[in-house]
Amino acid sequence: MIASRARLRYTRQIGKIIGFRLPEGAFHGATLEALLSVPYDSFDRLTREQILTFIRSFLSCKCQDNPFCGCPERKFVREVIELRESGLDHVQISQYLRDEFGIEIYAADILSYLEEAVHLLEAIQDVANQFNVPRMQELVRMHITAIEKGAPVISES
Ligand SMILES: [Zn+2]
Repeated sequence: MIASRARLRYTRQIGKIIGFRLPEGAFHGATLEALLSVPYDSFDRLTREQILTFIRSFLSCKCQDNPFCGCPERKFVREVIELRESGLDHVQISQYLRDEFGIEIYAADILSYLEEAVHLLEAIQDVANQFNVPRMQELVRMHITAIEKGAPVISES
C-alpha cells in the first residue's frame, strides 16, 4: 500500500510539541490524530500551510471514526493517480507531494505503485471482458491509458 510509504517532513517537530515520539508513517493513526490536535501556531508559516493542506485534502471526511476510517489513505492514493493523470511523472509527483503537503515519499515507490495500479486495472479489465460490461471496459481502458501516458482521461461518451 503506497500510503504506508509516505512520511511527513514535520513528524519530529510535532512529536516535540505534543511530548511523545510519533511513528514514522504519515498515515499512521497516531500521526493523523496528532495532526488534528496540535496547535498550528507552533509552526513556521510553510509547515503550518502544509499541515492545513494535508488536513483539508485527506482528513476532511465526515465519518464517525475519522481519521481511522480509511478515507485518508484512499484519498492519498487518488491524489497520486490524479497527479499522474494530469501529466506529472513519478519524480514530479514526489516533489509536488513534498511542496504541497510536506509528504516525503520516494519517486521509485511512486513508480512501482503506478505499475501495480496498471496491473490491477488489467486484472479488472479481464473480469469486465469476461462478464462483458462495456461501461467498465471503457472506464478501465481509459484509466490504463491515462496512467501509462500521464495524460488526462478523455471520455468518448
Ligand atoms: Zn472517512
